Amino acid sequence: MSTTDPDCLFCKIASGEVPAEIVRDGERVLAFRDINPQAPTHVLVIPREHHPDAASAAGAGTGLVDEVVREAHSIAEDEGVASTGYRMVFNTGSGAGQTVFHLHCHLLGGRGLEWPPG
Ligand code: C5P
Repeated sequence: MSTTDPDCLFCKIASGEVPAEIVRDGERVLAFRDINPQAPTHVLVIPREHHPDAASAAGAGTGLVDEVVREAHSIAEDEGVASTGYRMVFNTGSGAGQTVFHLHCHLLGGRGLEWPPG
């Protein structure tokens, strides 16, 4: 059963209630450009179903984390950043900078990415 949270911003983007620049519009997963991009390519990949973070979705055995990662890689290829290298980030918990508690993968690429991250 698919679940959504009426108070969740990313559920509202998934339903079309809140506008976003959509990059992919799949049955279970969608992607849109981050409104505050941190790299030339900065796309957020999310499941339509509401899960607070990647670990909880993985723990529920949904297969959605796998789909999100595959979609992010496919977008990286389309954006031309797969060959030079890109980063997938799943901020998990407010202490790690998570501000929207709906599973999302940041796909970042198109510039040099330093390690360790800030
Ligand atoms: O990992 P974190 O929870 O901080 O990421 C949330 C991301 O959602 C931010 O990078 C923010 O810029 C983005 N965002 C967005 N569209 C909105 C609200 C937030 O792309 N309407």
